[in-house]
Amino acid sequence: MISKKMEHMVANSSAIRAMFEEGNRLAKLYGKENVYDFSLGNPNVPAPEAVKQAILDILSEEDPVVLHGYTNSNAGYEDVRQAVADSLNERFHTAFSAKNITMTVGAAGGLNVILKSLLNPGDEVIVFAPYFGEYRSYTNNYDGVLVEISPNTVDFQPKLDEFEAKITPKTKAVIVNTPNNPTGVVYSEDTIRRMAAILEAKQKEYGTDIYLISDEPYRELAYDGVEVPYLTKYYANTIVGYSYSKSLSLPGERIGYLVIPDEAADSEALISAANVATRILGFVNAPTLQQKVVKYCLNEKTDISFYDRNREALYNGLKELGFECIKPEGAFYLFVKSPVADEKAFCAAAKKYNILIVPGSSFGCPGYVRLAYCVSYETIIHSLPKFAELAGEYDR
Ligand code: PLP
Repeated sequence: MISKKMEHMVANSSAIRAMFEEGNRLAKLYGKENVYDFSLGNPNVPAPEAVKQAILDILSEEDPVVLHGYTNSNAGYEDVRQAVADSLNERFHTAFSAKNITMTVGAAGGLNVILKSLLNPGDEVIVFAPYFGEYRSYTNNYDGVLVEISPNTVDFQPKLDEFEAKITPKTKAVIVNTPNNPTGVVYSEDTIRRMAAILEAKQKEYGTDIYLISDEPYRELAYDGVEVPYLTKYYANTIVGYSYSKSLSLPGERIGYLVIPDEAADSEALISAANVATRILGFVNAPTLQQKVVKYCLNEKTDISFYDRNREALYNGLKELGFECIKPEGAFYLFVKSPVADEKAFCAAAKKYNILIVPGSSFGCPGYVRLAYCVSYETIIHSLPKFAELAGEYDR
C-alpha cells in the first residue's frame, strides 16, 4: 500500500510518462526523424569539451580518497564553494563567501533543501503562472500550500496587483523563475524592483519575513544581450537556486548550488538548516566529482547560438503560419496560444502529425502549449510543414 500522498503524485505524473512513451512509440512506428518531439527540456547541445578534460584532470590530479569521499560539510567542498562565491562576486558585484554557498543536487535538490528548511505545514508559497509544475510537488513535500498568481497573457510578466493582494501573514516564500520555463520570458528590472517594494511593504505590514527564491537554471540561456537581473541586489531576503543542468548541459549529473546571503533574515540559522536538510533528505552531499568539475569550469559556457538559431526558426515559422506567441528572450521554450480554448484537444490534434507538445495546464496556464526547442535544427525545419497542416485544421 503506497501512501495517500504518493498515490496522488503517481496519478499526476502519468501524463508526462504517457507523453514520453508516446514519443518512443511514434519513433518506432515512423522513424525517429519523422517524429517532432518538443515535449522535453533535455539539452541537446553537448557539454563543453572542457568538462570532459576537467573530469580527466580531476581524476588524475585529486586524491581519490578525498574526491570520492563524503564532504566534510554537507554543503560541499570549501574550495568549490569559495570559487563559486568568487565567481558570483566578480560577475554581479556581490560579497558572498564559501559559507553563503550550499552545493546541491541540481536546482530540484536546491529547491527541496530550501523549502524543507523554511516551511511549516500550512505555510504559503506563491508562484506566478505559468510556472514549472514541480513547484507544486516540492511545496507539497513539506506540507506547504501553493498559491498561484494568474497569468498575464499579454507579456507574461508577473501580475503584481494580484501578487500584492494574495500575500498573507502565512506567506513564507515566493518562487520566481527567470528566464522562465515555459514562456522564455525574462523578468524586467522594473518588474523586480516593483516586486521587491511590494515584499518589503508586506513584511513590514505583517511583521514577517518573506523569502524570494530565484530559481535560475536558465540564467546563462539569454539571447540578444538581454540583462537578467541578479535578485539579491534588489531584495535582502533573496535565496538563489542555480543549476548546471542547462548552463553546462549536465542535467543527469545533478549539480547546482544555493546562495543564502548574509543579508537574508536569520541567515546563519538558514545556512545551518540547509546543511542539515541536504543530509536528512538523503542527498548527504552534492556529487563530489561534479562539484570539482564546477570549480574547473566556472568560466565555461554552453554554445547557446545553437538554441538561438532554433528559437528564430521556430518562432518565425510558427508566426508565419498564424500562431500567436511572444518571442522568448531566454531558456529554450516557446509558449504558444492554442487556436482552441481546450489546449489538450490541440495537443491531441498535433499528435496526428507526430508533433508532441505539452499542454499549458501542466504549468497552471490552460489555453497555451509549450514547445521545447532543444531539438535538432532539422527537427524544427521538418516540423514546419506539419505545423502548416495542423494550422489548416483551424482555418475557417
Ligand atoms: N526549475 C525549472 C524552472 C526547470 O525547468 C527545471 C528543469 O527543467 C528545474 C528547476 C530542475 O532542474 P535541475 O535539473 O537543475 O534539477
